[in-house]
Amino acid sequence: MSSSTTTLIGIAGRQIELPTGLFINNEFVPSTSGNTLETLNPSNGKLLATVSAAEEDDINIAVRAAEAAYKGSWGSLPGTARRTLLLKLADLIERDADDFATIEALDAGILFGDSKNINIASAVEALRYFAGWADKIDGRSTQIPNGMAYTRREPIGVCGVIVPWNAPLMITSWKLAPCLAVGNVIVLKTAELTPLYGLKLAQLVKEAGFPPGVINILTGYGAKAGQALAEHMDVRKLAFTGSGPVGRGILIASAKSNLKKVTLELGGKGASIIFDDADLQNAVLWAIIGITTHNGQLCAAGSRLYIQEGIYDRFVEAFRKSSIAAVAGDPLHGQTTKGPLISSTQKNTVLKYIQNGLSEGAKLLHGGKEIALEGHYIENTAFVEAVENMSIMKEEIFGPVASLVKFKTEEEAIRRANDSVYGLSSAIFTSDISRAQRVSNSLESGQVTINSWGNINSNTPFGGVKQSGFGRDLGEESLDGWTNLKSVKISVLAE
Ligand code: NAD
Repeated sequence: MSSSTTTLIGIAGRQIELPTGLFINNEFVPSTSGNTLETLNPSNGKLLATVSAAEEDDINIAVRAAEAAYKGSWGSLPGTARRTLLLKLADLIERDADDFATIEALDAGILFGDSKNINIASAVEALRYFAGWADKIDGRSTQIPNGMAYTRREPIGVCGVIVPWNAPLMITSWKLAPCLAVGNVIVLKTAELTPLYGLKLAQLVKEAGFPPGVINILTGYGAKAGQALAEHMDVRKLAFTGSGPVGRGILIASAKSNLKKVTLELGGKGASIIFDDADLQNAVLWAIIGITTHNGQLCAAGSRLYIQEGIYDRFVEAFRKSSIAAVAGDPLHGQTTKGPLISSTQKNTVLKYIQNGLSEGAKLLHGGKEIALEGHYIENTAFVEAVENMSIMKEEIFGPVASLVKFKTEEEAIRRANDSVYGLSSAIFTSDISRAQRVSNSLESGQVTINSWGNINSNTPFGGVKQSGFGRDLGEESLDGWTNLKSVKISVLAE
């Protein structure tokens, strides 16, 4: 049975028709229960579309389809053929980049330009990068006392992928591309707040020519579809990006089911350290990008800014001027530099953190209020005089809220930056190369950028330490999370 479609309207009347069903075995089908979920436009709070909501039965069907594909033709397909398919998918996404950017603007509130130039571009790049690996999944050979041994990196089989709403296609591609490149098959559950890009992606998967069952994309709620995927006995690996509490639940689900391999990309509380000798203009530019891009709804958001005393006053003034210049509005429009937060719940959470900051004794530098627009808008906000035991310094706010903290010495900056349960991404701004290396070596963080923020590339790994999770997206190292390692030992017999 096929399912229905919905039409989105973008800029200048651009129409995007999307199926609303679950993509299983290269067909769009309604959920077995008939249940649906509604997705809202965060820039006006109105209903955008109603799509199928997968539950346990649908997950079971999708896993069976994936398993059949894995045991069928996909399992024997050479890496070069997988490469061709991934490259084709990259080309199609690039061709339809405006559609994806429109969908992410409407469904996730991401600025059209940011979506197209950063998120969609990164997705295309990741697909091309991992396509290149598809025929290079090599092992290692060595001598052993009675002969020789070699290792094989083998696919795992059916992999579950659960992604968040904040950078939908980009994060999906960071997982889907290596998963398929090494020969696995995938059941992807998209976030309930942003299901629509997944339906567009599914159309292109079919157009690219992937065999049925290799890529299954299901819309649905976390507690039902996500939980069923995490607990499934035939899912051998679960790659998760999302919040810490749900990540812990994924580990428990693995422990209680089949001990599936788990990788977790969780939250962050990024520290940026700006030294007196930094290029001020460059540091301000990246600090602003680091906390205002997508309203700070990024795991790598630079929400704690440590600024050395000699540059502090100048930095704070330049940061304030740039922050308050943001133009809030419709994320589809080119002049908008500030879109909405994803939901009213998220807006209220951020407003609550701002109240907490004030009651805990931090001082507001600017912002702090809702913006009087339809939708979920909050002013860019910054605190000064914040300390590490305040909730605004400890917890991931996932909003456009920065704390600007003055420090004296390198040792103090390192100690305070490391005073966090998280360790995902940090930044250092300095013109002293020795200091840059000393400090980056000392930071408890999966990634450190020097004189920039973010700077994510397909060929370098991205992921966290401490409670930011484990495992890596991107880079050669991420392939470890998508393969099993086998040792083969050959005894050389005497003549
Ligand atoms: P979330 O944890 O609420 O949801 C993430 C996904 O998990 C969604 O698809 C959701 O449906 C699913 N889910 C919810 N309950 C589930 C359950 N019981 N079982 C299985 N799946 C379930 O996170 P979110 O609000 O969508 O995203 C924001 C979080 O993601 C932030 O903490 C952010 O830092 C993190 N994040 C991390 C990275 C990274 O690379 N480290 C990147 C982006 C976002």
